[in-house]
Amino acid sequence: MNYAEFYRRSIEDREAFWAEQARLIDWKQAPRTICDNSKPPFTRWFAGGTTNLCHNAVDRHLKDRPDQPALIYVSTETGIERTYSFAQLHGEVLRAAAALKSLGVKKGDCVLIYMPMIAEAAFAMLACARIGAIHSVVFGGFASVSLASRIEDAKPKLIVSADAGSRGGKVTAYKPLLDEAIRLSKHKPQSVLLVDRGLAPMELGGGRDHDWTALTEQHAGMQVDCEWLDATDISYTIYTSGTTGQPKGVQRDVGGYAVALAASMKHIFLGEPGETYFSTSDIGWVVGHSYIVYGPLLAGMATIMYEGLPIRPDAGVWWSLVEKYKVTAMFSAPTAVRVLKKQDPAFLKKYDLSSLKALFLAGEPLDEPTARWISEGLGVPIIDNYWQTESGWPILTIANGVEKKPSRFGSPGVPMYGYDVKLVHESTGEELTGVNEKGVVVIEGPTPPGFMQTVWGDDERYVRTYWETVPGRMVYSTFDWGIRDKDGYYFILGRTDDVINVAGHRLGTREIEESISSHPNVAEVAVVGVADALKGQVAMAFVVARDSSTLPDAASRLKLEGDIMKLVDGQLGAVARPSRVHFVNLLPKTRSGKLLRRAIQAVAEGRDPGDLTTIEDPAALQQIRDLIVSK
Ligand code: ATP
Ligand code: MG
Repeated sequence: MNYAEFYRRSIEDREAFWAEQARLIDWKQAPRTICDNSKPPFTRWFAGGTTNLCHNAVDRHLKDRPDQPALIYVSTETGIERTYSFAQLHGEVLRAAAALKSLGVKKGDCVLIYMPMIAEAAFAMLACARIGAIHSVVFGGFASVSLASRIEDAKPKLIVSADAGSRGGKVTAYKPLLDEAIRLSKHKPQSVLLVDRGLAPMELGGGRDHDWTALTEQHAGMQVDCEWLDATDISYTIYTSGTTGQPKGVQRDVGGYAVALAASMKHIFLGEPGETYFSTSDIGWVVGHSYIVYGPLLAGMATIMYEGLPIRPDAGVWWSLVEKYKVTAMFSAPTAVRVLKKQDPAFLKKYDLSSLKALFLAGEPLDEPTARWISEGLGVPIIDNYWQTESGWPILTIANGVEKKPSRFGSPGVPMYGYDVKLVHESTGEELTGVNEKGVVVIEGPTPPGFMQTVWGDDERYVRTYWETVPGRMVYSTFDWGIRDKDGYYFILGRTDDVINVAGHRLGTREIEESISSHPNVAEVAVVGVADALKGQVAMAFVVARDSSTLPDAASRLKLEGDIMKLVDGQLGAVARPSRVHFVNLLPKTRSGKLLRRAIQAVAEGRDPGDLTTIEDPAALQQIRDLIVSK
């Protein structure tokens, strides 16, 4: 089929298009209306229809593929590796659902899931979906303060957690962090259900705390029917990464999300029933929701859930799983590929990857050198996809399931069906239609199925935050900055607040980073704009060298700094040349692996970096502070 035509129908003949996609899932009751946009920007999809995510992800497959693998759990932290067939997964989810019900959880109640990457986390999510409870998964790497603010916002009746998580062999006890978070939060859950992995000592507090194994075993063999939910009921809430500030609670529906995921598995991710999908994300992020748990299972695929690092026991571990489980589609993030890029490339060639159709990457701009490196190393197509927690599934990419198209290095691709993507002028709101004109990437409503319904508990904040930022028009702002080439491919240039204004020239940090990362000795780079009395702003670069042994002293650093400046001069022009190139051994990132440019910028300008609860390693920021002070 022709993608341009497919896309056109999705916008101009929206109802018919999505009515067709809706047939990809089971409905108890068919939807009455397809798209109700009578109260923009709040779009209601498939109103009148009733369905259930757990039914579609699990029960539906019991007829045709009960014994095929559904969930493949691999932990290189504990050495546990176990495959659950659809029938076994069904059994586990039933017990978990019964356990939740026994603790008083009912349809519409919130259940907060603060878990490491263990199979029980997926059972808990699916059990919530089954009984109509709203789950709110909080990334297991967060500590008390971050967790407390999410407990307070989500107001869970119950929290599911575990004794501990493990990362690179280092065990972190969760229970004390959770107890402290509950103490800090004004909202208190009625009960806490805890999986004891035997990694850290754990005491169950009388009355409130329950043991997962004991309680689920009590309910083994019990039948818990799927609750038939309205398509517009809430399936879950999830928080954004907090890269630009306070995380936002994204609320998602049931029916639209199920349809959107089922459609994306077919049209974008090339997923076929019986095949294996491997997403290296974490269930704490939207990618984990859409493409570890729900998407692959909806498609009748086996999904790999991996606990561990990409480089332990060695940098071949992911590829060994691809070979072993005949993974057909893999999903990861540029930040993970950059980690592998610092390792021996021979690992990419060590295993039989012939089952793999493509590697999908999302989460951050994918620079061309990184894309080329992994593409050549693996010998499979690399498919960049651009989206947000808010959207739930890709906004820009290529839909090879509809029409085979080459991806373009540096570009995530074209607008996906259902998304009326536009570029607008930041301050006038005027639509930009010219080739290579820079503008803010916005989405014209109605937003497609799967897109967030609102900010959890705060419709007004949803409208104010996302829909009222472009002057003169009501469009959803992505807060990303982009251009479109003559063939309609988009390029994301960075976030709207990451644009640098050097003596009147507006430069995306991304453009400068892309240029710097083409230097062979650059593994990672962050560019921020720093206030400058003369030029307004100047670009400042922070670089992690690929081989730090080449930088033993100030002279060698100065030499590389000069080389990098020359490179930028040659590629982009002297206006883009960073005023300084500092060398660090790690960059400050969010726990989801995104560069915390706002924090780097604040420190570089000698300001307070603000909310740092989502930072991965504070030492990274300290290193930058030290460099700035000592200069
Ligand atoms: P917050 O909204 O809390 O500041 P965040 O925007 O990082 O955090 P996410 O929803 O996890 O939260 O990330 C979405 C953002 O990630 C996008 O708006 C974009 O800036 C960036 N992004 C995601 N995928 C890509 C991609 N393929 N290319 C370029 N940028 C991407
Ligand atoms: Mg965002």
